[in-house]
Amino acid sequence: MAVNKAQLFVFSAPSGSGKTTIVREVLKCFPGFVFSISATTRKRRSTEKNGVDYFFMSEDEFKQKIDNGEFVEWEKFYDYYYGTIKRLIDENIEKDLCTVFEVDVKGALNIKEAYPNSVLIFIAPPSIEELRKRLIERNTETEEDLRKRIERAEMELDFKDRFDYVVSNIDLELAKKEVKKIIEKERSKEVVSGN
Ligand code: 5GP
Repeated sequence: MAVNKAQLFVFSAPSGSGKTTIVREVLKCFPGFVFSISATTRKRRSTEKNGVDYFFMSEDEFKQKIDNGEFVEWEKFYDYYYGTIKRLIDENIEKDLCTVFEVDVKGALNIKEAYPNSVLIFIAPPSIEELRKRLIERNTETEEDLRKRIERAEMELDFKDRFDYVVSNIDLELAKKEVKKIIEKERSKEVVSGN
């Protein structure tokens, strides 16, 4: 059976929904899958590495890339810029690698517009209250950032019906299994030309 080659799997979820853990699991389980490293102007968290989690850069550098047309999509939120570099996706496609994205809902829809065969997967938190609890436990945000992130989560949930799949993360292990099943199903679909 022919296998779809360089597919794009785009994950979105309000922060604190378990999306990063699920994306890491996908990268571990599927050989030939690579993470799309976004550019951002936000400060690096102590657990993050430049060139691994993000390309951390100054606002001037980011704006230069916007002017050069280097982004397939970019957004500004919480006072920071985030963007997906087009060249990196196209390099993966040329190498027959599958790219896994972790972007906000608008970014996901913009990636689908540029690459219509992208598979969009929304990870839904059990509830906004639970999300608040998880973010407080994670303890990486200031109170002001936390408030903005909750507000944003409410907006992002309104977009979930525009995704190809919605996976509810009530139980992390079940959510991981469901995501893996979705990817296996998409991988075994008939090959179609283009992306
Ligand atoms: P965080 O600051 O928690 O790493 O990310 C904040 C939000 O930015 C998350 O929703 C994350 O998915 C999103 N994000 C990360 N990279 C990109 C990107 O390249 N484009 C867009 N549109 N959103 C991104």
